[in-house]
Amino acid sequence: MGKRKQRDLGLDRAIDRRDFLNGVAIGAAALSSGLAHAAPAPAGAPQDQPGYYPPLLHGLRGSHPGSFEMAHSLRDGTFWDHAEKPEDDAAVYDLVIAGGGISGLSAAHFFRAAKPNARILILENHDDFGGHAKRNEYQLNGRVELMNGGTMLIDSPHPYSKVAQGLIEELGIDPVALAKKCNRREIYKGLAPATFFDKETFGADRLVVGRERVDEEGGTIPWPEFLAKAPLDAKTRADILRVQEGTGDSMPGLTSAQKKDKLSRMSYLVYLRDYLKCGPKALAFYQTITHDEWGTAIDAEPALDCWGFGLPGFKGLKLERGSIARMGYTAAGYEDEGSPTFHFPDGNATIARLLVRNLIPEAIPGHTAEDIVTARADYSKLDRSGAPIRIRLSSTVVGARNMGAVKSPKGVEIAYARGGRVYRAHAANCILACWNMMIPYLCPELPETQKNALHQLVKVPLVYTGVAIRNWRAFHRLGVAGISAPGSYWSGTRLNWPVDVGKYTSVRSPDDPILLFMVHVPLTPGMPERDQHRMGRMQLLGTPFSTYETKIRDQLNRMLAGGGFDSARDILAITVNRWPHGYAYEFNPLFDDFSIPPEKRANVVGRQRFGRIAIANSDSGAAAYTDSAIDQAHRAVNELLAA
Ligand SMILES: Cc1cc2nc3c(=O)[nH]c(=O)nc-3n(C[C@H](O)[C@H](O)[C@H](O)COP(=O)(O)OP(=O)(O)OC[C@H]3O[C@@H](n4cnc5c(N)ncnc54)[C@H](O)[C@@H]3O)c2cc1C
Repeated sequence: MGKRKQRDLGLDRAIDRRDFLNGVAIGAAALSSGLAHAAPAPAGAPQDQPGYYPPLLHGLRGSHPGSFEMAHSLRDGTFWDHAEKPEDDAAVYDLVIAGGGISGLSAAHFFRAAKPNARILILENHDDFGGHAKRNEYQLNGRVELMNGGTMLIDSPHPYSKVAQGLIEELGIDPVALAKKCNRREIYKGLAPATFFDKETFGADRLVVGRERVDEEGGTIPWPEFLAKAPLDAKTRADILRVQEGTGDSMPGLTSAQKKDKLSRMSYLVYLRDYLKCGPKALAFYQTITHDEWGTAIDAEPALDCWGFGLPGFKGLKLERGSIARMGYTAAGYEDEGSPTFHFPDGNATIARLLVRNLIPEAIPGHTAEDIVTARADYSKLDRSGAPIRIRLSSTVVGARNMGAVKSPKGVEIAYARGGRVYRAHAANCILACWNMMIPYLCPELPETQKNALHQLVKVPLVYTGVAIRNWRAFHRLGVAGISAPGSYWSGTRLNWPVDVGKYTSVRSPDDPILLFMVHVPLTPGMPERDQHRMGRMQLLGTPFSTYETKIRDQLNRMLAGGGFDSARDILAITVNRWPHGYAYEFNPLFDDFSIPPEKRANVVGRQRFGRIAIANSDSGAAAYTDSAIDQAHRAVNELLAA
């Protein structure tokens, strides 16, 4: 890109884009020189230093530089070539947990409930706790503005189990009451959904206001009027109209159950192409409609899931809820009643923070699920010597081994890397609440069948980005609150969800700064789902921040040009939450064998207790939701208690 274009996009502007607490420099140094030669950790860990407050960091977050290099060198078999002799951790624990996400924190909660005097150590490889449930915080014109860096909201296709519901109640969360009291949708009254057609896919850059493919906010103009404004030919318009409003039965003569059975075996792409007769441009319009929900595109998502989730194109089939497709497959769970939904301003990071406050009350002030939203965590309280529960950040577990025979172990030895050194902790029990696909590298002694099963739990990569902008007049001028962009890098962009909780209030005036939320899912359509995720993960890790930034600036300029938006002038800060290991893998009838009974599926085979080591994380529930993270923690704790 020429210097002039760079200037036009504002790439030379001084904005808040750098992650300098535990960022590129540290990660790169550790990588290039190997562990043995890495600089020794400064006296006192970073999390104990005054001012340590990762939610305020911008730039490349999510799996930030410095968080994954040790794990990758373990995977590549090079870690121990460079590692120094492990130093012994002075304390001995009742439980060591790998992973400080909602599952790891819940495991600590359940274990302590059973053993109130338990000494528990949680080791987390990122510089912040919460796992995917991460808080992004911005100071904009003296106001605090929050966004979720990952896990967005309380929401599940299934009702929360008694255990998960019980935990969120214990934390003081009542999603139904909170939604009634706190949602402020009226702030965006008069703003409509919109679709951005890009010239590379549709021949012309054009923002068409009034509709997007899934009109969550409600379309404001009829589909024919919307389509007439789009840069689409007559055949494509007719195709899209048929999908959105058609009532003809494309599977005549079949019962509802037979139709559902068929739909569970074909992708949404095949359904749109072969049954609703969509041409290539209409398919391009729908290509990314499944990104947000499943981290897949329409080629890899069963049509039945899309029906269950409420995507368009199924009116004429008259499918009945509850009539089961083959082998009990129920549209990715969406035929269940579902859970109540509520979005805290920092997403489910509030759940993680409530858990931390519950475990270590002095780390976060306050008493309620509302006051916690604006409470500032004191990270120096997380890992205090002698405290019963400790959370140690920037610590990558690199080994977990039963001491003695697996049938009657004397305890577990856990090795972890931190600040260029390797440490060894000893505990009576260990829970691996980390990403399950990594466990074979941590526990090479596991049976081969279990390791093979764990390798199958390939996580779904995706990127959630927050962009702070000077004001949202451009959105007001255009009359839009959210834009879906079927052919563009960022497939969705919207104004931060308006919600007032406790002392936190969402921005009211379009003249004030606000956050934009943008989503990108890296996919290679046409390949098997797991391979797409493996490729996507490499793609995300190989993309420098400057590329994400360029794509943000370019796309915002193109989408919002009609409202007078200027990326060079209007962008204040960018946070790219890159999750190469994102959603837990959910079995997919297009790629997985559903004749395998649930108890023999990879997540169940993979999560078997091994001596005093138990396995949690939403991966072990094969469901990418917070309730699964909690349920699996509960199961893992009970397995250890019963053993
Ligand atoms: C972008 C995104 C959006 C999502 N949105 C929603 C949503 O709206 N609602 C919902 O219910 N769910 C959502 N999810 C799913 C989310 O994964 C779960 O809800 C839940 O937060 C998972 O918690 P967990 O503890 O099982 O896993 P994680 O949050 O992944 O926590 C596991 C932790 O273990 C750490 N770890 C891994 N290896 C090691 C190691 N060797 N040593 C130490 N630590 C290690 C990881 O870095 C991570 O911090 C979303 C996920 C993503 C990625």
